[in-house]
Amino acid sequence: MQLNLQKSQLLPILAPHEINRAEEILRNCVHCGFCLATCPTYQLLGSELDSPRGRIYQIKQLMEGKSPTRITQQHLDRCLTCRNCETTCPSGIRFSELLDIGRRLTEHHVKRPWLQRMTIQVMRSILPYRKRITPLIRLGHHLRIPLARYQPAKENFPAPEAVAITPTETIILFRGCVQEGLAPATNQSLMALLHQLGMQVLQPAEEGCCGALSHHLSAPQEAEQFMHNNIEQWLPLVQERAAKVVISASGCGVMIKEYGKLLSSDAAIKVSEAAVDPAELLLPYLNRLQAKPGIEKRVVFHPPCTQQHGLKTDLIVEQILKSIGFELLPIKDRHLCCGAAGSYAILQKEISYQLRDKKIHSLKQHQPALIATSNIGCQHHLQQQSKTPVVHWIELLSIKEGIDPPTETQACSEVP
Ligand code: SF4
Ligand code: SF4
Repeated sequence: MQLNLQKSQLLPILAPHEINRAEEILRNCVHCGFCLATCPTYQLLGSELDSPRGRIYQIKQLMEGKSPTRITQQHLDRCLTCRNCETTCPSGIRFSELLDIGRRLTEHHVKRPWLQRMTIQVMRSILPYRKRITPLIRLGHHLRIPLARYQPAKENFPAPEAVAITPTETIILFRGCVQEGLAPATNQSLMALLHQLGMQVLQPAEEGCCGALSHHLSAPQEAEQFMHNNIEQWLPLVQERAAKVVISASGCGVMIKEYGKLLSSDAAIKVSEAAVDPAELLLPYLNRLQAKPGIEKRVVFHPPCTQQHGLKTDLIVEQILKSIGFELLPIKDRHLCCGAAGSYAILQKEISYQLRDKKIHSLKQHQPALIATSNIGCQHHLQQQSKTPVVHWIELLSIKEGIDPPTETQACSEVP
């Protein structure tokens, strides 16, 4: 692609390494259009400007000095950041990196309508803070406001101090922000599994949001603050105890795995390298896993885009579920986004809901008893419109008894 970048105009907004990266991505795009076939917004809206190639072209124009308009902003806003195009692209284009840059440029020049600015500000002030969002979700549940499907754990998970174990690995179990309020059963299930496998599970008290919401809402400094805070909390454990950071929400997982790339520091790289998806962590223990007693086995698995196109661990989840006896039903257009996409379900309701309807239709085609997924955003979004229960796949598992009896007691720790 021919380029004539206006570097001096870009410099106040972008760092030199971002300009170089954008230039590299733009030069590598050969305009073949293969990516159009798998882009959900292009499929739905049928406009080149709402396709990956069209968005790349619009960002190229911004980099060459053209002033963005509200229309440009809308075309970039409509991207789900699902990264389907990255999986399809034969040239290996990292579209999501270019999109972040394009959005930053647009945000700098175009003032959003006041209602949208206010909505974004409210989201940024509440959603990433566990201590603010969790009480609101619980209040909504008690008032029977259908904004949240709060799922208090109904089962008797083993109390950490009652489980005698031989610690084999140190695990930092990332709590996230909205997940703890909307679906506490996910991390409770994961914690119980890890304890029973003999791992020491830690949850640093001051750990916070992964930063993804701020990052995708073009608030890079706020995102960096969240990232630095988490790195500060985790790095001593990663360095001194070779701890792994396990993240049950794939949206947060893909963000934490990219800390190293986003911050380019040794500390961030170390933390990113320590980040694991539960599927990667549990696979070596496959012979000790089993389906939770009494659970329905007829399941359809919806792999979130962040897991399919970011973490690329979706096939491991399927391998685990099949190996322990679940009947995984086929799903048409498995690769397509469900429309949740973080704040997208709030800011782009119309497209988001159309994608959800299509996804639910595909998921229910073979009458599953349960829909399993790996990200709180998808789980909550799908459950709003589905009578079939939507659960995190971790909730389907338990540990076989009678293997490797534990010998030492280790409580779950809050690191002060
Ligand atoms: S498939 Fe890749 S190279 Fe082809 S137009 Fe899309 S982004 Fe560009
Ligand atoms: S990230 Fe998803 S929605 Fe955005 S251009 Fe790529 S395929 Fe389309």
